[in-house]
Amino acid sequence: MAHLWEKSYPAGISWGETLPAPVPVESLLESAAAQWGDKPAIDFYDRKLSFRELHQLAARAAKGFQALGVGPGVHVGLHLPNTPHYAVCFFAVLMAGGRVVNFSPLAAPRELKYQLADSDARIMVTLGLPVLYPQVAALKGSAGLETVVVCSLEDFLPAPAVRAVFGPPAERVGGPGREIDFAELVANDGAWRRRPHGPLDEEVAVLQYTGGTTGDPKGAMLTHANFCAVVSARNRWVGAALQQGADKTLVVLPLFHIFGLSFILLLSIATGSEMVMHIRFDADRVLQDIARKKITIFAGVPTMYTALVNHPAIGKTDLSSLSVCASGGAPLPVEVLNRFKELTGLTPSEGYGLTETAPLGTMQVMGGTPRAGTVGLPAPHTIIEVVDIETGMTLLPPGEKGEICVRGPSVMKGYWKKPEATAEAFRGGRFHTGDIGFIDRDGYVTLVDRKKDMILSGGFNVFPRNIEEAIYEHPGVAEVTVIGVPDAYRGQSAKAFVALKPGAAEFSLEELKRFLADKLAKYEMPTELEFRPTLPKTPVGKLSKKELIAEELAKRGAAGA
Ligand code: AMP
Repeated sequence: MAHLWEKSYPAGISWGETLPAPVPVESLLESAAAQWGDKPAIDFYDRKLSFRELHQLAARAAKGFQALGVGPGVHVGLHLPNTPHYAVCFFAVLMAGGRVVNFSPLAAPRELKYQLADSDARIMVTLGLPVLYPQVAALKGSAGLETVVVCSLEDFLPAPAVRAVFGPPAERVGGPGREIDFAELVANDGAWRRRPHGPLDEEVAVLQYTGGTTGDPKGAMLTHANFCAVVSARNRWVGAALQQGADKTLVVLPLFHIFGLSFILLLSIATGSEMVMHIRFDADRVLQDIARKKITIFAGVPTMYTALVNHPAIGKTDLSSLSVCASGGAPLPVEVLNRFKELTGLTPSEGYGLTETAPLGTMQVMGGTPRAGTVGLPAPHTIIEVVDIETGMTLLPPGEKGEICVRGPSVMKGYWKKPEATAEAFRGGRFHTGDIGFIDRDGYVTLVDRKKDMILSGGFNVFPRNIEEAIYEHPGVAEVTVIGVPDAYRGQSAKAFVALKPGAAEFSLEELKRFLADKLAKYEMPTELEFRPTLPKTPVGKLSKKELIAEELAKRGAAGA
């Protein structure tokens, strides 16, 4: 069946082909090692690992995991920042027949404990740094945690360099449960036992927890087939711009988040791209490495683009090696996009998706003309529909705003141990995203805001994102977050939190309102303004509203008490 949007694809691009049969996710690494054996797969602060070495290490870790009891149905938690250990252990757990559970190394102890108990992870892999290891070690013997595998940056980098930056390793604790070093895990001949897989569209490869901005985080069950759909779709999407086996991708998105996992790790392995890995995002280092290492692919969340366009060195840095830039995970402010274009001549290609869709959804078609303000077209074999906000069951025609739903091969199997939440999300057989938007007649998708972020002001639906876009046009503003706060007269009104560009002067609410007068309706005007040196962000680096909402509630609660 030809979809409504297919007619608008640029000549030569069609997603009408059949979806390739899924393969086990771990076989991507085996194929890469066979095809690009000697080529570098990872460059970690100049320590290079070839595809063959990465595969051999993963095979040894797989044997090590099997010796620890990993096999079908066994969950292994990865509590790691971006280091080669992540790539090794991700593939090794799947080779051993187990499932990966991603943990954010930035999670608070309470969240870590909740996710450990909810996910049934029996083994956790962490890094032996004082900021990471003690949190996991404290949970040994509780919540079903039997074994902790402790990695060291010294597994890949010279000890003096590691100690100069990170200080001495964490002091190890004894206590219940088993603890082994990564070096011990891989101290074997790599002869792991291959396990037969069940149907790949049923078999869960990864439990990926949602952000938990409302209620407890939920584990999205992502199958081998989900990831294969992402890799094949993304490959065809940007295929023309990729140089199979010759690209260099900068890895600053955390691999424990779905954006980094699918679009950076898996796509790099599938296309033979070298991953220049940074343990965390650092704008100085990003610019240096793009110029020095001739990076060709950069993908980031919008706050990374904001940091780059406001960096004093960007105008003096040679960024000519870049051929693909992608943004996703949150709205990319038009101001930031235009500034990036001016400075580099490159237009970041914006995509939209969620943890639950692994995270395929929509993307600007490479080679096509991006439609400004939209997040592009539905991904291959992915159906995007818009339903009414109230019931979520009635399909809306093109142009009408409602809740965006996704159906397609990358959509998760359901939430782990949460049948009610799963049934609710899949009402009518469509996955409900919680995002409000519309589709135009050509199939391009525009996001308006998140359902839960919408402000109800004097009977109007106010979308904070619209206000944020307008405030970004102010020359002094680096970052802005708008939330709804209680308002005795209107029910709710908008409050803006602003982080200024270096050297920019503060301005009053009245001045801001004058600046916004021709940009916003009266009922959208912020009624409060607060400056902060920095704004709260999620572990992947998206601007986060929940901390600000909680602070405002606490402040008002205290004032009302
Ligand atoms: P996560 O599950 O952490 O990947 O978050 C998914 C959510 O991020 C979506 O439901 C959207 O609200 C938001 N999001 C993802 N991509 C975009 C985008 N390009 N523009 C605006 N919001 C986005």
